Amino acid sequence: MRPAPATLLLPGRGRLRRYNPFLRMTMKRSPLLLVHGGAWDIPADLLEAHEQGVFDALQEGWRLLERGASALDAIEAAVTVLEDDPAFDAGRGSFLTRDGRVQLDALIMDGGTLRAGGVAAVERIRNPIRAARLVLEKSPHCYFVAQGAERFAEEHGVRLIDNQELVLDRERKRLAEAQARAEAGWPDLSFSGEIDQEYDPRRSSHDTVGAVALDTRGRIAAATSTGGTLNKAPGRVGDSSLIGCGCYADNASAAVSLTGWGEPIMKLVLGKWAADRVQNGRSPEQVAPDAIGYLNRRLGGHGGIIMLAADGRYGLAHNTPRMAWGLHTADGPRVGTVIRSEKPREN
Ligand code: ASP
Repeated sequence: MRPAPATLLLPGRGRLRRYNPFLRMTMKRSPLLLVHGGAWDIPADLLEAHEQGVFDALQEGWRLLERGASALDAIEAAVTVLEDDPAFDAGRGSFLTRDGRVQLDALIMDGGTLRAGGVAAVERIRNPIRAARLVLEKSPHCYFVAQGAERFAEEHGVRLIDNQELVLDRERKRLAEAQARAEAGWPDLSFSGEIDQEYDPRRSSHDTVGAVALDTRGRIAAATSTGGTLNKAPGRVGDSSLIGCGCYADNASAAVSLTGWGEPIMKLVLGKWAADRVQNGRSPEQVAPDAIGYLNRRLGGHGGIIMLAADGRYGLAHNTPRMAWGLHTADGPRVGTVIRSEKPREN
């Protein structure tokens, strides 16, 4: 016989009402899927590819959510589509390290159980989010790096590939240009700039991808996957795959995925910062612009955020000229490359 559910007495209107967590978990929810494809100064000729990419990811994830699949399954599927799409800095088509290789980082986290799986600096895995999911499901550990991560993935059925399969000529050219700029002493301005400034070729792409979802059983989850930053030193790991930095999920607070220059995001543990504020009663819609405002005020950082609470409230914000985003609810899909929201508030 199933043991009686633990109950918690909560103050109601003038009397105590009984809270039954099993009842909450068995109530059917209306699912929701939110994805992003990086925040930066996306040039006009790439807007369509970005919108199409986030749309395709929404379709794949929503197909699963609609059938009652878990939030984890949906975000893994959505992020896999984005990793396979060469428009984004994740999977094939990612930025190259200083020595011309692709090194990938990814994290997936389940808000219902706080289980997490991360991989970093992997070079021979086509879809690092799949490897991250395997870590979450099959390992007592949370995080694997480099060859250890590849070995773990292979032991669990992932085919290892040659790193060159992930490298595009477009990226070789981009790397050569970035290295020439660095030699000439020009800074990387990828995340800066005003919305109506002309596209500056020095602002190269930063298209880390991510997804957060709510499933019909009320569980939320988050995933982030990246090729990191252009011309990064081999072995550099950014915020994207670090728990609480570029990705976090807890049903008690929120599911969060970030994009932007990784070092400032890591220093502020910004994903957890944002989730904590939702737990303390603020809405994701308010917290998203606050988090990006804090990133900028505290460390001059630029980037974007998507976040979602277990009650279905969500928020998006960025302080880069653009961010590719997509939202799917029961009302259908919506995609775009700019979020128009109120100015970030002071904290
Ligand atoms: N956050 C990523 C990193 O620093 C880059 C990005 O979001 O585009 O690795």
